[in-house]
Amino acid sequence: MIPNWLLQRAFLTPDRIALSFGDDKWTFSELKKEAVTIAKKLRSIELQEGDRIALLGSSTPEMVFVIHGCLLAGMEVVMLNNRLTADEIDWQLNDSEAKVVLMADEFHKIIRVSKTETKTFTEIKSLPEIPYTITEIWNPSRTITIMYTSGTTGFPKGVRQTAGNHTSSALSSVLNLGLDEEDRWLCTMPLFHISGFSILVRSVLYGMEVRLYAKFDAREVAMEIARGSVTRLSVVATGLQRILAEMEKTDAVASPSFKTILAGGGPIPDDYLQRSLERRLPVLQTYGMTETSSQTATLAAEDALRKSGSAGKPLFFNRITIAAAVNPLDIGEVLVAGPHVTPGYIGHASEKSPLVDGWLQTGDVGYIDAEGYLYIVDRRSDLIISGGENIYPAEIENVLVSHPDVLEAGVCGQEDKEWGSVPVAFIVTDKKISKEQLNDFCKQRLAGYKVPKAFYIVNELPRNASNKLLRRQLKASLDLKRNE
Ligand code: ATP
Ligand code: MG
Repeated sequence: MIPNWLLQRAFLTPDRIALSFGDDKWTFSELKKEAVTIAKKLRSIELQEGDRIALLGSSTPEMVFVIHGCLLAGMEVVMLNNRLTADEIDWQLNDSEAKVVLMADEFHKIIRVSKTETKTFTEIKSLPEIPYTITEIWNPSRTITIMYTSGTTGFPKGVRQTAGNHTSSALSSVLNLGLDEEDRWLCTMPLFHISGFSILVRSVLYGMEVRLYAKFDAREVAMEIARGSVTRLSVVATGLQRILAEMEKTDAVASPSFKTILAGGGPIPDDYLQRSLERRLPVLQTYGMTETSSQTATLAAEDALRKSGSAGKPLFFNRITIAAAVNPLDIGEVLVAGPHVTPGYIGHASEKSPLVDGWLQTGDVGYIDAEGYLYIVDRRSDLIISGGENIYPAEIENVLVSHPDVLEAGVCGQEDKEWGSVPVAFIVTDKKISKEQLNDFCKQRLAGYKVPKAFYIVNELPRNASNKLLRRQLKASLDLKRNE
């Protein structure tokens, strides 16, 4: 039994601040009022508890009200990524069989969907309110959200995330990070992604303020950190790099009241971790995926220096093992179990369960050291086998981005007659940098077989709507080069 998050929170601490955006603030009781109004209006378009709807919006207070309104109304909410193209959105709407799509007005002008009924946020406002009793207790297996995976390795898969998944995820997180009265979590991560949505969940469960930003603005974020006007932050590697660059410009350091940056979504280069130390930024690497409703493992604050590069130990309720590993440090697929793991996919991916014998097959490769700390090596699908040696592109990218003139790097395998496959690198730089220099730099830091056989300077790297590097597209661009 899980209490309806917002009803319970507004009952326990009605006057605490729930949300701030610019100079505006809302208490939990005000947030509840907004959400209840929306829930009652949704009733008037014949939406019933358990119906599946989709939501498309950006990071605004209105979006937060609509999200909570939908949860109060008992909907299963498909959280659409607002950076997708109209066709991609249409595909997810069909795959998820959402009954209605609720859209912030600005998207309605550009997104035309083929079949699904659409209601803009303004249209919702003008609906009549139908009074009804909001369910106070949730079944843990109730689906709260459906989020599509980022589509880094193939087609995005619709993941069911239940009330039990989200609740245990938020509880595990706080058992690791702790909680203070003055905690405020700065949210610049998208609300449609688990990284941002999980901040909203923590807010209602902990009674904690979310400081919401419509867009990631490195300068503003750096200022909030230096002032100590927020205490927690979640980032991906590119965001961290931009915050560091801002702080380095003015030689700023984090306020002593700033507590933690959770850094995840992909590998965090060692260079960024070192630079974070100089800015007194406590960066905790974390490992999670859509299928685990946020963090599975996170480094504890006291281990941040000693275990730099590790994604930490599994959080309290979670388990992690490495497939077929016999000894510590043996590399293999990372398997995960716990109350935060999805019961399964919907739509096209629903036939294949992501669980085997109760373990989630993550598709990631890693190892656990003798003390039980997890290290993520790379995705299994990106492994390059060269003359019988295993090469993980992330290790080479990590070295390349530590070069002062390299802004971003992507590595993939290229077919080779002699070795089967060899690594090649794509580099983004705003300086003049020769391929010989890059080659020498790598030779000093990597075994010979890992040194890229070619360096391509490009304007940008292919990324998906979650900003993740698409190595399969790097590979495809090599095939194009060959055929030219
Ligand atoms: P798809 O499943 O559609 O290919 P995706 O796996 O990128 O997309 P997400 O669920 O957004 O979709 O991302 C989870 C993945 O991100 C993990 O499986 C892992 O590959 C990567 N990841 C997350 N945290 C880390 C980390 N700390 N270090 C390395 N990789 C990480
Ligand atoms: Mg995945």
